[in-house]
Amino acid sequence: MQFIDLAAQYQHLKQRIDKRIQTVLDHGHYIMGPEVEELEQRLAEYVGVKHCISCANGTDALQLTMMVLDIKPGDAVFCPTFTFFATAEVIAYAGATPVFVDSDERTFNICPQDLEKRIQAVIAEGKLVPKAIIAVDLFGLPANYPELETIAAKYGLKLIEDAAQGFGGEINGKRAGSFGDMATTSFFPAKPLGCYGDGGAIFTNSDEYAALFRSYRVHGKGKDKYDNVRIGINSRLDTIQAAVLLEKLAEFPTELIARNRAAVNYNESLATKYITPLVPEGFLSSWAQYTLISENRDAEMARYKAEGVPTMIYYGTCMHQQTAFKQLAYTDDDLPVASRLAKQVFSLPMHPYLRKSKN
Ligand SMILES: *Cc1c(COP(=O)(O)O)cnc(C)c1O
Repeated sequence: MQFIDLAAQYQHLKQRIDKRIQTVLDHGHYIMGPEVEELEQRLAEYVGVKHCISCANGTDALQLTMMVLDIKPGDAVFCPTFTFFATAEVIAYAGATPVFVDSDERTFNICPQDLEKRIQAVIAEGKLVPKAIIAVDLFGLPANYPELETIAAKYGLKLIEDAAQGFGGEINGKRAGSFGDMATTSFFPAKPLGCYGDGGAIFTNSDEYAALFRSYRVHGKGKDKYDNVRIGINSRLDTIQAAVLLEKLAEFPTELIARNRAAVNYNESLATKYITPLVPEGFLSSWAQYTLISENRDAEMARYKAEGVPTMIYYGTCMHQQTAFKQLAYTDDDLPVASRLAKQVFSLPMHPYLRKSKN
């Protein structure tokens, strides 16, 4: 059994994907070819925003948000401690200070109450300038944007949605990628919508931000390609990856139904043994991961392993526990919920072809 069965998906889509890749090989526009723009349009339509700007990976997408918002030394950017490293990394890479926030114990996402406390603490201390919040749609479930948007507005902070895992999720019919001032996603192969290498994208309704993202992604270009008006990076999505994604996006709604069916089946058979993942009323998860909570995690994982079922831990180390952030001097008592989750969570195989894969 595979934890994520990309081979089964490829077998299902092989003819369409091979044909799309062949088209790129025939026209030869490997960088910024026509498939890139076609994909950006389809993604913007799917998510329901005005602009989609593709880039090289989900981390660059987040880094570009820091550049567009001019995040710099002396700024505070709030993010969950229970997330993938890239969320916090881009804040520190911009020279700003990540301020870690505890999690909601049932949704695994950033806790709005704890967020507000930490914003107030930073303001009271007066050393850093609160600038932005990066919320994460952990394991496919959108964060609590109705509450986060209220807090961001109250304190005049920009809100960034890290939808690297969240693509396909919804809150009351509004799709992941459309929350906050700007959103990012990743097309790393194992994400809900993945390509066959690295890839990423940014979503926004703002014309001004979109123009800045398009400039920063190609060396800070101006109107003329060889007139560089700001310092940017080189972060483009390869045309071949866009071609793969166009076919995968067409199949994505069907796959989402299969993911949800798999999650419902898991919930029904596991609810008496573990704390199963909570999807609040009105929310829809894209099930990037199916994550359980158990006080006997090691024993449970060993039992699954003996049955030939692979399991994984996302995440065993919170941001405040990372060596790279040691100098920020948080303790587990500062972030008790996330610290406990890191000791108790484990994830089961989750992909749209679970029924079809036999080994
Ligand atoms: C995967 C991931 C990223 C980074 O995406 P890459 O494409 O691997 O750079 C950022 N944030 C979260 C929450 C992720 O899961």
